[in-house]
Amino acid sequence: MPVRRAGVLAVLLACALGATACTDRTEPVDRAAVSSVDRPAPVGVVADPPTTGGNAAPVPPCDPRASLRPSPLPRPGAMPEGSTMRAIQDRGRLIAGVDQNTFLFGFRDPTTNKLSGFDIDRVYEIAAALFGDANRVQFKVITSAERIDALKRGDVDVVVRTMTATCARWAEINFSAIYYTAGQRVLVEKESPIASADQLGGQTVCAAKGSTSLNKLRELAAKPRLLAVDNWSDCLVLLQQGQVSAVSTDDTILAGMVAQDPNVKLVGPRFTEEPYGIGIPKQSEDMVRFVNGVLAQSIAAGSWTASYDLWLRAKIGEASPPPATYRD
Ligand code: GLU
Repeated sequence: MPVRRAGVLAVLLACALGATACTDRTEPVDRAAVSSVDRPAPVGVVADPPTTGGNAAPVPPCDPRASLRPSPLPRPGAMPEGSTMRAIQDRGRLIAGVDQNTFLFGFRDPTTNKLSGFDIDRVYEIAAALFGDANRVQFKVITSAERIDALKRGDVDVVVRTMTATCARWAEINFSAIYYTAGQRVLVEKESPIASADQLGGQTVCAAKGSTSLNKLRELAAKPRLLAVDNWSDCLVLLQQGQVSAVSTDDTILAGMVAQDPNVKLVGPRFTEEPYGIGIPKQSEDMVRFVNGVLAQSIAAGSWTASYDLWLRAKIGEASPPPATYRD
């Protein structure tokens, strides 16, 4: 007798003998009406989040895309004495602040249990250039709101986490050259009548704390109601549960959500430019030049394109590496 049929027979037999497990199969444990069960809110969700940094000194104007000219790359494992890169080499591993909740950029692949994505590839390239071994990395998973403090405290050597280079952020940290330019858009359920950001007035919209997306939503003339969360994946869950009408952030992050859920769609045009840079502590200018050398090498060798093709091309279309701009 095939094993499965034998199993079914055993269950039927147990039922006939009056085992309690059989009663459990037909009687619901919780008889509460579904409408009475609260929809859970993710940890850390805040309605009408207060503006942060409102009293900060005015930000000097800058070109957020302009970084520092690359230095010639030393041989892996032979970083110059006294440099930031040498300290990392001596420690034996690069410490990188990343995301594990953003499909396509920084996410935990359930089939390998490894962090993967376009941002994670950039981390591996930096580790390979430092050590000759891409795996010499310690990942630290951080939220959008934790990125700048993690760099300022020296908890991480780099942040590679869908991070837009802005003048306000340049005042606190350094950025590499731009390695991709995204733009903010709107994500809604397939059935939603909302067709663009102008139609978000009176609607509840989700964005991550500490993101440029949340600030931009505050500036919209339509004045949506805002719900701020720690992780972008919390926004997708809130949309799926009907607790928000839309999610708004970079089209890259939203494209990852579309790839995970066939019931959601992107609407309206891009209404911002989000040039992504690798965040580096303010005092480590040598590291900025080193990372820019690694990015230039990755682009010249075709690794950027291979990584883009693997993660993003099918989801967000053709793109070429953004041309680097340096201010010195
Ligand atoms: N690119 C935007 C930012 O750096 C949104 C992405 C994110 O928060 O991860 O704030």
